[in-house]
Amino acid sequence: MATPKYRRIVLKLSGEALMGDQSFGIAPDIIQYVADEIRSVTAMGVEVAVVVGGGNIFRGIAASSYNMDRASADHMGMLATVINSLALQDAMEQKGVVTRVQTAISMHEVAEPYILRRAVRHLEKGRVVIFAAGTGNPYFTTDTAAVLRGQEVHAEILLKATKVSGLYTADPVVHSDAELIPEISYMEVLERQLRVMDMTAISLAMDNDLPLVVFNLSDAGSMKRIVCGETVGSLIRN
Ligand code: UDP
Repeated sequence: MATPKYRRIVLKLSGEALMGDQSFGIAPDIIQYVADEIRSVTAMGVEVAVVVGGGNIFRGIAASSYNMDRASADHMGMLATVINSLALQDAMEQKGVVTRVQTAISMHEVAEPYILRRAVRHLEKGRVVIFAAGTGNPYFTTDTAAVLRGQEVHAEILLKATKVSGLYTADPVVHSDAELIPEISYMEVLERQLRVMDMTAISLAMDNDLPLVVFNLSDAGSMKRIVCGETVGSLIRN
């Protein structure tokens, strides 16, 4: 069996990644696939924390554009991430992977509250910890939550799962001549305003030295290859 390069990782799964070809919600086959991909990494003894987005259900900023108060809209967005997290937990547990969902907004009947030391203990015991409700604060994103939680649990790397193969010079869906950037610094991402994560998330990762790999989740086995040290997607670091 391949030897993992990392002991502890944080995976950012956007809501869109769970949607598949649908325009809304969770695609059952995709959530099973994601659970299998995560299981392939935990099976190597790697500790995995997951931060789940909610854009497949609700995005605060979209609702605030039609006059809804942004904080209320963001609370709805954070609740959407809880729905996705519970779906992922269910899929993983059906495959025999022990998980815990921790929410940044307390809802004791549904999941554990976010408690850092407890999360670390779960990871040490080989449980996958799914962090829901982002940072718990409006005006933030789950990308920022992923960087924050990654740093709090001392993950060695952040894996950002996307629908494209990495970071490109332009949107590859719109521009056929867009080129994949295999490696780039956080500073250059900021200067060139490349849209890989929001500025807050990028700055936080840069300030605290958390490397990031952007990869295509639909390439089966890519998470495992990254964890084994292969060059996959785009690497962003200081
Ligand atoms: N959100 C928030 N604070 C956070 C994280 C998320 O208010 O710390 C809200 C925000 O409204 C956001 C929604 O939750 O639009 C879903 O998160 P995000 O857009 O990051 O999900 P993704 O794009 O990864 O699916």
